[in-house]
Amino acid sequence: MLPLPEPASMTQEFDVDLFVIGGGSGGVRAARIASGYGARVQLAEEYRVGGTCVIRGCVPKKLMVYASRFRDEFEDAAGFGWTVPEPRFDWSVMKRRRDAEVLRLEGIYGTNLGKAGVEIVHERAVIENAHTVRLASGRRVRAKVILVAVGAHPVKVPEVPGCELAITSNEVFELESLPERILVVGGGYIAVEFAGVFAALGSKTTLAHRGDRLLRGFDDEIRDALDEAYAKRMDLRLGISVERLERVAGGLGVTLSDCTTLEVDQVLYATGRRPKVEGLGLESVGITLDEAGAIPVDAFSQTCVPSIYAVGDVTDRAALTPIAIREGHAFADTVFGDKSWAVDHDLIPTAVFSTPEIGVVGHNESTARERYGKIDVYRSSFRPMKATLSGRDEKVLMKVIVDCASDRVVGVHILGHDAGEIIQAVGIAVTMGATKADFDRTIAVHPTAGEELVTMRSPVVTKHPEAVG
Ligand code: NDP
Repeated sequence: MLPLPEPASMTQEFDVDLFVIGGGSGGVRAARIASGYGARVQLAEEYRVGGTCVIRGCVPKKLMVYASRFRDEFEDAAGFGWTVPEPRFDWSVMKRRRDAEVLRLEGIYGTNLGKAGVEIVHERAVIENAHTVRLASGRRVRAKVILVAVGAHPVKVPEVPGCELAITSNEVFELESLPERILVVGGGYIAVEFAGVFAALGSKTTLAHRGDRLLRGFDDEIRDALDEAYAKRMDLRLGISVERLERVAGGLGVTLSDCTTLEVDQVLYATGRRPKVEGLGLESVGITLDEAGAIPVDAFSQTCVPSIYAVGDVTDRAALTPIAIREGHAFADTVFGDKSWAVDHDLIPTAVFSTPEIGVVGHNESTARERYGKIDVYRSSFRPMKATLSGRDEKVLMKVIVDCASDRVVGVHILGHDAGEIIQAVGIAVTMGATKADFDRTIAVHPTAGEELVTMRSPVVTKHPEAVG
């Protein structure tokens, strides 16, 4: 980390110690912690405090995931003796209650910032020089340190004719009614989660992805299992791209790369997010973006300009809320709390709120093999107990990947109910460096799905690359 230079002229006073641009997960955490150390902090947010996660991301999405999963519950109840009248879903009730909850959380974020002594500026702020931000009103603020925490925004790629007719994950939260027919484009977290939600809520859902499997980067067997489950729940089209969109009498006409056509009511593009750096003034201070369009930073989130730091999605290290929060916290501790530490981006537990859900920590089978050479893979694929009476055609898949040299568990992958909840607990053990022997001596909780993680005794892959042939 470079030392912070004092400004050239000692007569120049700073208005604040820290100016944070962006009131999302990373910016809010950094502002509160820095203020707690006695720093004078201002935070600018041009839209709504809370950022993508609270306003149009994790929180409202998860509420929609909960809404969508009742369909399975209603259906499954019959196998346990319940008579459930034909359920009806009212989008407007869900939307009204979801939006109210988001508003409540937004208020809490604002209140907590205020309680922490952070002054919120409800304006757009851009960087003018290494120590100055200019607000939309024209007012300038001199800051000893500037933190850029502006996040990312969805992109519509590729830009095909008519792509302006599609919505993104920003607009999806504004839909006033449940689309009867929807095409979701993409195969990442957002596409997979929303396709699952719409299919379960009752939309005729097509998920089109250019790749041959969903969720690139995840363990191949987990991807296969998700593809299989999704193919039963929706119209899944792999190896397919959108060629054009157009308005037709009944909705939107879609031409796909295999020359087939679709008619839908909405097209949701979820083909990635990019750092939201446009017009931020980074070039005026000599910050050059990397190939991903992100702000390059060192391990302590410091840019090449010593007084300017960046955290969260705008740095594209790992575009996840808990990572942005951790980076913001580390920044504030390091710069204002005299407690220098950096975030470890190596072992990140994460969940995809598809149905079935996915939880992951550590390496997948192929990256573990590349990194450690000799690995053992333990796998369990089974029908969950609930499915025996519900009759649902579903399976749970769990994999534990072990580095043979150290016996350390270097990857755990789960597809099935509550995978996100399970992986959070497993993530503690894996982060602590748990070995397979530690897993083995852990007493099973019976009867649960999670007990499989501590009862897998024999590796399924015994041939190591050097033994092949
Ligand atoms: P991702 O980067 O995860 O996925 C983008 C998808 O779009 C990929 O399937 C990609 O295909 C596809 N794609 C990219 N470019 C094109 C193109 N030109 N034409 C066709 N398809 C294309 O982005 P998301 O938007 O899904 O999510 C952004 C980030 O938000 C995630 O990486 C994640 O970090 C975060 N997030 C986390 C969640 C969670 O924690 N549960 C939930 C939602 C988001 P290909 O694989 O072939 O490149």
